[in-house]
Amino acid sequence: MSHRYSNKARTLLQERPHLSKWLNQCGICQKIGYKPQTPTTNENIKAHGIKSPSERLRDNYDVLELNENEVCEDCQGIID
Ligand SMILES: [Zn+2]
Repeated sequence: MSHRYSNKARTLLQERPHLSKWLNQCGICQKIGYKPQTPTTNENIKAHGIKSPSERLRDNYDVLELNENEVCEDCQGIID
């Protein structure tokens, strides 16, 4: 696997560039994931079997929490 993320994830971001505001990227390993506060689908919408774009982002990435230096948990262990 040369690419960490699927074409689906890339297509999603091409279609809806504003979704990138919900993505975090580690300053050291460059890993990309969604922010823990990324919204899930509104219950009223979900009732119609529809997923919000931000929910689809959650489906396509792993959650990635960064510290105040924009460094992921894995890399914090390396530099401490
Ligand atoms: Zn990292």
